[in-house]
Amino acid sequence: MFPLNSMKVGNDRDKIVLLLLLLLLLLLLMMMMNDYDDDCHDGGDFSCGGDDDDDDDDDDDESHGSNNDNADDDTGCRWCDGVYTPTSDWPKDGDIQIDSISARYDTDLDDVLRDVTIRFKPGEKVGICGRTGSGKSSLTLALFRMLDTYKGRILIDNMDISHIPLITLRSRIAIIPQDPVLFAGTIRFNLDPYDEKFEDELWEALEIAQLKPVVAELDEKLDSPVSEGGENFSVGQRQLFCLARAFLRKTRILVMDEATASIDMQTDAILQKVVATAFADKTVLTIAHRVSTIVDSDSILVLSEGRVVEYDTPEALLALEDGVFSSLVKGAKNAGN
Ligand code: ATP
Ligand code: MG
Repeated sequence: MFPLNSMKVGNDRDKIVLLLLLLLLLLLLMMMMNDYDDDCHDGGDFSCGGDDDDDDDDDDDESHGSNNDNADDDTGCRWCDGVYTPTSDWPKDGDIQIDSISARYDTDLDDVLRDVTIRFKPGEKVGICGRTGSGKSSLTLALFRMLDTYKGRILIDNMDISHIPLITLRSRIAIIPQDPVLFAGTIRFNLDPYDEKFEDELWEALEIAQLKPVVAELDEKLDSPVSEGGENFSVGQRQLFCLARAFLRKTRILVMDEATASIDMQTDAILQKVVATAFADKTVLTIAHRVSTIVDSDSILVLSEGRVVEYDTPEALLALEDGVFSSLVKGAKNAGN
């Protein structure tokens, strides 16, 4: 025990001061323990603090801004209660390993992906094709955990995405959907909703997406209004805004879902050019409406009824006389696409 008697306490006032000091000390101790608990999300079975099983802990991380799910929190533990909080630069490589997955939109619905195993290498440009309803969109949506992948697993940079907080996962992959929607607000807000970028970065992204002249002509430039859904811009321009946003976010993985379906050939050509240059080192999955869009890809994936039926380089698939991709290309040539 604390040697109160040995301290020659002169009077009651000294005793009270001493007691208050002890209480303060106790309070400080409790606060320190509470902080530790918070960092560790109660600890669980996993290691907390210091170096754990993530070897990226030493990486530079400038982003310690607001986060809802500890997405960018490089200060606490990585593994807590079965949830893995990746570093702010995850995924660094954009390596996607799809391992025997079967998936459906609901437990009482049929499988839309059936035992799909495939690997998209870092920086690879993959063209995905197949008949309508073959599972192209579903496969890319599985990366965002938008459907029930009840069998198998998907690893991105060797990390099972089922352990990653949903908001984090979805913020680390960019998608340009077929029918892109812009938020009501300003162009600036649409490009940089969290106000994290410098003015010249926004203009650079617009330039990359070939939108600089369009925005420069507007009276209020970056502060020009965007109406609900982005209706004051064409579908093609909305897709290009999505592309500029994806470029700004610097994600390693980009999904383009039939981005060319409803736009003119000129915008299509811009999209392909931007992807080939600004996204040259990124992993890009392009769901093709026109096969001409994907013939120059590194590899082609053909799906049928939720299964992989062909996956190889375009050259190898074109060499297969009776192949599905061959027949799609022949069909497109005959149709003049
Ligand atoms: P398309 O070329 O028409 O875009 P797709 O290859 O992208 O087709 P998916 O949209 O992935 O095909 O559809 C695969 C299967 O999943 C289809 O049978 C489709 O009806 C079904 N499906 C798609 N979206 C949903 C959903 N939200 N809820 C239930 N079933 C869905
Ligand atoms: Mg689709």
